[in-house]
Amino acid sequence: MLLAGGGHAHLYSLLNTRFFAGCGVNVVLVNPSRFLYYSGMATGVISGDYPPVANRIDVRRLVERGGGSFVQGRVTGLRLRERAVTLEGGGAIRYDLASFCLGSEVPAVSGSGGFVIPVKPVENTVEVRNRILGHRAGSALRVLVVGGGAAGCEVAANAASLMARENVRGRVTLAEAGPILLESAPEKARRIIRRHLENRGVAVCLGTPIRSYGRGVVHTGDGRALEADLVVRAVGVVPRSVFRGLSPPVATGEDGGLWTNHFLQSISDPRVFGGGDSVSFRGEALPRLGVFGVRQGPVLFHNLLAALRGEPLREFKPQGRYLYVLNLGDGTGLAVYGPLAWRGRSAMKLKHAIDRRFVRRYGV
Ligand SMILES: Cc1cc2nc3c(=O)[nH]c(=O)nc-3n(C[C@H](O)[C@H](O)[C@H](O)COP(=O)(O)OP(=O)(O)OC[C@H]3O[C@@H](n4cnc5c(N)ncnc54)[C@H](O)[C@@H]3O)c2cc1C
Repeated sequence: MLLAGGGHAHLYSLLNTRFFAGCGVNVVLVNPSRFLYYSGMATGVISGDYPPVANRIDVRRLVERGGGSFVQGRVTGLRLRERAVTLEGGGAIRYDLASFCLGSEVPAVSGSGGFVIPVKPVENTVEVRNRILGHRAGSALRVLVVGGGAAGCEVAANAASLMARENVRGRVTLAEAGPILLESAPEKARRIIRRHLENRGVAVCLGTPIRSYGRGVVHTGDGRALEADLVVRAVGVVPRSVFRGLSPPVATGEDGGLWTNHFLQSISDPRVFGGGDSVSFRGEALPRLGVFGVRQGPVLFHNLLAALRGEPLREFKPQGRYLYVLNLGDGTGLAVYGPLAWRGRSAMKLKHAIDRRFVRRYGV
């Protein structure tokens, strides 16, 4: 059984590798690094709430501890007829059953050099922190965060907080194409986040789509040029491109994610499963949040085992409401649950507790 990507939806199966091994199944995990970086704590790494290693999970150790094996590599494609995945740099791995949890990416922008840092992979937040701290004293640092969703708002708040704490002179600007921040959040949460960012000195620019990126400058849709020393791009997150342009083709949703049915099983091939951001659940993208991948984990584990044994599969039922807490970088959190939103130290305490427990469960 091949697990392509050690993402959130695979963690439960990785933790339980020994069950597969006990059924005589050889589990192989392919991941570019031995670590998965847990996103819930990623922006806390910018402000210094956590050291950079605090949010990593050793997926290699998980699979090997259960008797499986680890291949350090990157999956580039899927050959359904041969039942194999291709790897970057050549080579392929054959499977009887495969599951994909490769996450998502922010497509690269050309011509910007190292000036633009995408928020994905989430371990890039370490680079954001280092670039802020490494800025030469003298000139004021101009940080531009592109995207007013949860990730962009968290990055802006935590970057501003780091600069204040470490006396880095400069300013954070948040550019959002639409008319509001946190589009899918309740009105109260939007008001809280905007007030918080502005109180921290962040310049919030709504209705400001960024059309192109150069070195040291970005151009807005209405022809303005914004100068910056560092740009963090928190927009345009899409599933990894592994499932596009395959022959024979594999069904994907509009966003290019692997199209699965409600059993998290590819509609093109019953031997292929998947979860997390790289999947289009019943053809539609679920919110790109780790909480969905985590909730899919036990269902995926059950279904992989059931597929191997020829037993009935279990449906994944996405939760209608879910809790997420934004780290505001000042010891407070903004918690959102359905139509409810509240801000305070208690929200941040709750977030710390949930995140730390999660990482502890899978061992650091
Ligand atoms: C700054 C930021 C903060 C966030 N905070 C939260 C939060 O607080 N709560 C929340 O619920 N969500 C949060 N999210 C969203 C969350 O990051 C994603 O929804 C979640 O990571 C998706 O999980 P996944 O398992 O699909 O992918 P990932 O967690 O990204 O895991 C994918 C794995 O696959 C590996 N991989 C990638 N490409 C390949 C390849 N070609 N071959 C093999 N392996 C590969 C990766 O290295 C990685 O180990 C945040 C996102 C960002 C950007």
